[in-house]
Amino acid sequence: MKINVAQVKKEIGSRQPFTFITPACNMDVSQLRFELVDDVKVTGEVVNNGRALEVSGVIYARMASRCDRCLEAFDAPLDIAFQEVFQETVDQVADETADVAYYQDDEIELAGLVEENLLMAEPLKALCKPGCLGLCPQCGVNRNVSPCHCSHDDIDPRLAKLRQLLKE
Ligand SMILES: [Zn+2]
Ligand SMILES: [Zn+2]
Repeated sequence: MKINVAQVKKEIGSRQPFTFITPACNMDVSQLRFELVDDVKVTGEVVNNGRALEVSGVIYARMASRCDRCLEAFDAPLDIAFQEVFQETVDQVADETADVAYYQDDEIELAGLVEENLLMAEPLKALCKPGCLGLCPQCGVNRNVSPCHCSHDDIDPRLAKLRQLLKE
């Protein structure tokens, strides 16, 4: 995911679009709780703002996981907007504390930035769909598939899951 910025860095105000498509298995995101499937597409543009190069775009990925409520496997799109400012390190030493990234040799490497954004985008709760009904805490049936006839005093799915865990 390297962008050659030799041209765009010469002229203030100039823009350079980019698109990368990489198989998800090539991404170094092993710490993810879910799996990435299909391709990861990254599209955006580099803008020369006179002081630095602004890189912004969107990462389109597909995640596969198990639903926290009903435990069914599912996959869902993951769209992540990102933005980063890059400065060239030619003669000055990179300042690690500054809120910018650095590039060298007219080349911006996006892979690290993309992987970082994927890791930060990890959803706290993985749901197969927003209104997933989950498993019945009493009989264990998947309530998305078939309704059961248990009486439910509380239908809070968090309590339901806790009860499920206590039972095991
Ligand atoms: Zn579900
Ligand atoms: Zn039930």
